[in-house]
Amino acid sequence: MTYTAPLDDMRFVLDEIAGLSEIAGMPGYEDATPDLVDAVLGEAGRLASEVLAPLNHSGDREGLGFENGVVRTPKGFREAYQQYVESGWNSLPFDPDYGGQGLPWALSTAVTEMWNAANMSFALCPLLNQGAVDLLETHATEEQKQTYLTKLISGEWTGTMNLTEPQAGSDVGALKTKAERNGDHYLITGQKIYITWGEHDYTDNIVHLVLARLPDAPAGTKGISLFIVPKFLVNADGTAGPRNDLRCVSLEHKLGVHASPTCVMAYGDNGGAVGYLVGEENNGMACMFTMMNNARLAVGMQGVAIADRAYQQATAFARDRVQSRAIGSSDPKATAIIQHPDVRRMLMTMRAGTEAMRCIAYLNAAEIDRAHRHPDATVRAKSDARANLLTPITKGWATELGCNLTSLGVQIHGGMGFIEETGAAQHYRDARILPIYEGTTGIQALDLLTRKLLRDGGETARGLIEEMLETMAQVSASEDTRVSTLAAPTIEQIRSLAKSTESLLKTGAEDMVTAAAAATPYLNLFGTVVGGWLLCKSALTASAKLASGEGNSLFYDAKIKTARFYLDNILPQASGYAAAIEGAESVMAMDEAQF
Ligand SMILES: Cc1cc2nc3c(=O)[nH]c(=O)nc-3n(C[C@H](O)[C@H](O)[C@H](O)COP(=O)(O)OP(=O)(O)OC[C@H]3O[C@@H](n4cnc5c(N)ncnc54)[C@H](O)[C@@H]3O)c2cc1C
Repeated sequence: MTYTAPLDDMRFVLDEIAGLSEIAGMPGYEDATPDLVDAVLGEAGRLASEVLAPLNHSGDREGLGFENGVVRTPKGFREAYQQYVESGWNSLPFDPDYGGQGLPWALSTAVTEMWNAANMSFALCPLLNQGAVDLLETHATEEQKQTYLTKLISGEWTGTMNLTEPQAGSDVGALKTKAERNGDHYLITGQKIYITWGEHDYTDNIVHLVLARLPDAPAGTKGISLFIVPKFLVNADGTAGPRNDLRCVSLEHKLGVHASPTCVMAYGDNGGAVGYLVGEENNGMACMFTMMNNARLAVGMQGVAIADRAYQQATAFARDRVQSRAIGSSDPKATAIIQHPDVRRMLMTMRAGTEAMRCIAYLNAAEIDRAHRHPDATVRAKSDARANLLTPITKGWATELGCNLTSLGVQIHGGMGFIEETGAAQHYRDARILPIYEGTTGIQALDLLTRKLLRDGGETARGLIEEMLETMAQVSASEDTRVSTLAAPTIEQIRSLAKSTESLLKTGAEDMVTAAAAATPYLNLFGTVVGGWLLCKSALTASAKLASGEGNSLFYDAKIKTARFYLDNILPQASGYAAAIEGAESVMAMDEAQF
């Protein structure tokens, strides 16, 4: 159950798909030199494999302790967190004015992949904290930044996200937690459920970002405000002071991520928890969206990470497990199962799916970097729109596929996959939350349809499709026939995506019910086609590297073979999604009573 960070592929995708060297040329990102990037990836890989990965299985088995509102993390987790913080990992992409290192999100996203592949439960704490930092960097006052942001960036304290209540899950607008004005602060009363790392023993303070409603607030999402609610109020000298009126009431018992505390939180049992407004009253959702978008990309990244971990484990098992003679072999001896074509099919599916997802996630992060730092305002605006379009696709597609790939990981293990000792089952159990939290796939699909496609009349989607076709013209013109033959099937599916996009724009204008029924197939279609496009682009580069004799020829050769496999075995699923979009009317055909 070891984990080795796939540094070669990470570096390749950062360079060739995300365009890291171009990003490093932008003002503010100059520190991201090739040497520094190598050092960051190498050191992160070491911490992930030597410290975090060995705690993954033991953390799953031991789980969390909970007594009198106090959470005890599994053996070794607290020390690992200290090591992670002391080595400066918590501050990688953040504002240097508040103690951050100011490195690109693309690089930080690759590092996030390693933490999550090594130990998803552990990584969830920094994941939520990263979103909290992004939110406060963007929306907090200078005083709030000095008090909270610096400590969340250093990792001295951690941040959480508090949206969900029993009656308000996907429907955030239904939340009831109350906030009353009380001088320079507010008093918060209510219950939040499922709060990830809402209580723990890592740090001496926890900063909760809580959505609540003022007494005179309008109904729905337009009446939600956002508050900083620290576990301990902060003294004038910046240290943690008296206990605030909030507590963790219980921990959920879950299918997976057993070492990540999922907390029921009670605010204001004794009169009201002190909270400080972030941004304007009733504008909390807009602020929270900064954190949610950050977390959505990071959760998509978790899909990539867990699939890669499961792939590594399945490959090791398949090399080791001996069963039956290989078909077509004259050798009467039984062979390792990696030689059986069906096992190869499963391993290739895992590999190709994971590499395609990695491409989308890193590209998504790179577009965020461009949106922040590109010197040209037109490019910034275009990248911002593109990052917004890609985020629900990364979140939705990479988590659904990630889940399916961990299931294949179990399958490759046969019966041993179902036995907990191997750890293959843990990846499958851990992965299952990914398409649910941070907005279910259904919610991502509606976001893609309404906010990202219909709102700009399809402009951003068309721009991306155009760029895909431009790449394919280059692929088609390649002198390497292994590459040029990738073009035709991919172009066909890109055109099919274009057709579905136009058809959905039309349906969305006329019949929103049918358009909504087509939203998830559209998200899957988009993800599948973007994955194909980016693997073709990878193959084109790999072919050029092979021709020049540069670098690791086995790695580049594998890139071309992986792209071919994806086009032959995964990309054709796009046709099924396109057909489902066309046939979406049948989704609502039955009466409710007929179920
Ligand atoms: C382990 C774990 C950790 C979590 N961490 C946090 C956290 O840190 N902070 C936090 O605030 N929350 C957290 N959550 C909550 C999580 O974000 C919600 O569970 C999720 O958003 C779904 O809400 P729900 O569970 O109420 O499901 P529901 O909203 O009841 O959804 C049930 C089903 O209905 C579908 N559905 C609902 N509404 C629609 C719609 N309008 N259109 C189409 N389909 C719809 C959903 O897709 C889903 O399939 C966590 C949850 C878990 C299990």
